[in-house]
Amino acid sequence: MNVLVINAGSSSLKYQLLNPASGELLAKGLCERIGIDGKFTYKPQVAGKQTLDAIDVAMPTHAEAIEAVLNALVDEKNGVIASMSEIDAVGHRVVHGGEKFASSVVITDEVMDAIYECNPLAPLHNPANLIGIRACQAKMPGVPMVAVFDTAFHQTMPPKAFTYAIPYEYYQKDKMRRYGFHGTSHRYVSQRCAEILGKPIEELKIVSCHLGNGSSITAVDGGKSVDTSMGLTPLAGLPMGTRSGDMDAGIMEYLMKQYNLSMDEMMTILNKKSGVLGISGVSSDFRDLDDAAAEGNQRAALAVEVFAYKVRKMIGEYAAAMGGVDAVIFTAGVGENSADLRLRFVDGLQFMGISIDPEKNNFRGEERIVSPEGSPVKVLVIPTNEELMIAKDTAELVG
Ligand code: ADP
Repeated sequence: MNVLVINAGSSSLKYQLLNPASGELLAKGLCERIGIDGKFTYKPQVAGKQTLDAIDVAMPTHAEAIEAVLNALVDEKNGVIASMSEIDAVGHRVVHGGEKFASSVVITDEVMDAIYECNPLAPLHNPANLIGIRACQAKMPGVPMVAVFDTAFHQTMPPKAFTYAIPYEYYQKDKMRRYGFHGTSHRYVSQRCAEILGKPIEELKIVSCHLGNGSSITAVDGGKSVDTSMGLTPLAGLPMGTRSGDMDAGIMEYLMKQYNLSMDEMMTILNKKSGVLGISGVSSDFRDLDDAAAEGNQRAALAVEVFAYKVRKMIGEYAAAMGGVDAVIFTAGVGENSADLRLRFVDGLQFMGISIDPEKNNFRGEERIVSPEGSPVKVLVIPTNEELMIAKDTAELVG
């Protein structure tokens, strides 16, 4: 069985064709500048097939983008399947499922309506996800489709974890609560963690750290998310590449009055100009910050320090939330690739039984246990694979 996984943004569309049973990736790629001009990238993973790198393909809408993907996949020379009938199902990443979706679902008209109703909670993402689904439905009639939500995994959080201390009517009327994101990633790596440790996930207390350009940490107790750092929106929690993470809401009032900023301008500052970019003034990329810090840039060093300190505090916070911790996972761009930062995240956590063996830790982007032999808490690096999780959910639901 082959599943086409689609992650549609407002002007881009990422795709992968994979076999969920074997995990084999057949092809992946990206459509960019949809609605502007259109750039198409296609990376077949089969020997002898040619890559297309950001070539010009007119994409006035997402429909042409999907068409370009399908044409490439079945192309006589460079395709990886003989015909469209070899695509058995499509799995769509959908960002916000609100309180309506606690798991992945087969897409029906009712599901489309329910996703639409979640649009106000993710105005930049959900409308684009819906456009991607509709474009696929138009080009692939009769092929079953599944929606996999970033928020669904966190729907097991108890009210004490998801309730904001603001007037309760805003929850009742407006659904203002913590939802959390990166759920597909946290679910994937915590399942892999249980498999690697050879223990039932029901018996494990895991702190899962997804640290990339966007970052979040989740407490996974017995396989269920019981708390997570992102909130109503993906702006909350850790400082990120360009996002502020948690901060005193009073800062907004001060800055808006002081500089006569509109709400839109304020939100642009918090989403696009803050985080480690904002502190350092150098870059949102941790590799650039490392280089700048090594050259003596104090603000770059401070930005990394603020990030690492918050990660460390939150590992402790979530261990406390669960009343213990058996495993800590590092995943995503920073977690998978930066040996140095991994050491800094657990620095000082030895008192909780959390530490890393520097020799075992010296690698990038592989699945490994990095805690010392016999350590009470296992520390693991697990490359995330949200697409595989989406494909597996899709296969399971469409049978
Ligand atoms: P996204 O949230 O966009 O999916 P990723 O998970 O791909 O992001 O993470 C991207 C980030 O990972 C980059 O911005 C960079 O800061 C970080 N990163 C990648 N490789 C390294 C490395 N070797 N050392 C430090 N940071 C790295």
